[in-house]
Amino acid sequence: MPFPIKVCAICSEEFELRPDKPGFANRCPECSASESVDPVTKHSMSADERKAESEANEARRKAIRELLYRKDS
Ligand SMILES: [Zn+2]
Repeated sequence: MPFPIKVCAICSEEFELRPDKPGFANRCPECSASESVDPVTKHSMSADERKAESEANEARRKAIRELLYRKDS
């Protein structure tokens, strides 16, 4: 069964709009894939950024812990 042919809104390439195609219906698979990639995993963090990130995570965990304890008491 043929799929409808759509024109990508990003690169203007024609593509088959398959029912299982991830991403937007008006974007070709390539443009959908590049959009759906998590920028955090692509971005290589420096030591300082990693440190700041882990401190932020620690602060977040602490805040959540305090919130939970407050609920329990
Ligand atoms: Zn495209």
